[in-house]
Amino acid sequence: IAKIYTDKDASLDALKGKKIAVLGYGNQGRAWALNLRDSGLDVTVGLERQGKSWEKATKDGFTPVKTDEAVRNAEVIIFLVPDMIQRTIWLEKVKPNMKKGADLVFAHGFNIHFRMIEPPADSDVYMVAPKGPGDTVRDYYVAGGGVPVLVAAYQNVSGKAMEKALAVAKGIGATRSGALESSFKEETETDLVGEQTILVGGIMELMRASFETLVEMGYQPEVAYFETINEVKMIVDIIHSKGLSGMLRAVSDTAKYGGMTVGKKVINEDVRKRIREAAERVRDGQFASEWVEEYNRGMPTVVNGLKEVDNSLEQKVANELRDLIERGKPKK
Ligand code: NDP
Ligand code: MG
Ligand code: MG
Repeated sequence: IAKIYTDKDASLDALKGKKIAVLGYGNQGRAWALNLRDSGLDVTVGLERQGKSWEKATKDGFTPVKTDEAVRNAEVIIFLVPDMIQRTIWLEKVKPNMKKGADLVFAHGFNIHFRMIEPPADSDVYMVAPKGPGDTVRDYYVAGGGVPVLVAAYQNVSGKAMEKALAVAKGIGATRSGALESSFKEETETDLVGEQTILVGGIMELMRASFETLVEMGYQPEVAYFETINEVKMIVDIIHSKGLSGMLRAVSDTAKYGGMTVGKKVINEDVRKRIREAAERVRDGQFASEWVEEYNRGMPTVVNGLKEVDNSLEQKVANELRDLIERGKPKK
């Protein structure tokens, strides 16, 4: 059974008074820097260049500095730049300038697990991986809550790596919900498998396959869109608060029967076999190598894939119905 830590198990003391460098001010970077600062910790934002992030950080009351300068005095260095540039920033800016023995902290295990960053032997290396987007990490914190995280220690030189991971988790609000103990390997592999088979890939392709089939059969695209794409949120919201049993109890008996019998025919043994194959490709490192290569070629697959979705019928319908969908939502 998983070990889950909450506020009473975590203390900010392990990080109080320490200089913390947050590298990057994007999705997670902004949320973490603001939450840690609001929790009373000493945060410096380190950035590579004067640009959008620099402006945003300044507007939020930080005085950003260049990465090399930020890490020079830091006792805790948090990597919140995109995974694919962490290795370069590590080799060129962090490693040559960091204090001996400073902590290296990650929000995702990719670079450590796939050995793209080889940490010095005298540093604690730990992870606090939010299970939600950066904006949510900030919004929940401001509202008195927190997004759950996975915590893990990869190197524990001081004997206090987990204590410090929990302090970071508390500082960003996560222990108000829960911090689940994991490992770099487990977090990295499950995160990649999850986004491929369900969160991004699976859900998108299942929506598109259902939508396109209904349209091919002559139903109106708008009607197909409501049913196969828009309504997913309402179902997922029920799953989110009450689990799958709660969802089944909220739909009609006809939907229960149809869902239970046909669902297993659509998502059959063959689909499960391919989910397994995808997971094996993540586990043996094939996916990571493929992705690094794609990234280094300028991400042609990602660029073309985005264009294809932007121009799809389902996106045209989404744009057409956006006002209607937005105005129906409850007012705050
Ligand atoms: P972002 O893509 O939002 O990071 C953007 C930041 O990195 C900006 O400050 C940007 O600066 C800087 N940056 C981008 N490209 C470069 C570059 N080539 N050189 C220098 N700086 C650059 O990252 P995320 O917040 O999405 O991810 C950060 C970490 O958090 C990753 O390890 C990720 O796996 C993890 N994570 C992310 C989640 C998410 O929801 N996004 C969820 C859980 C974990 P500028 O404005 O100047 O371009
Ligand atoms: Mg994820
Ligand atoms: Mg991910």
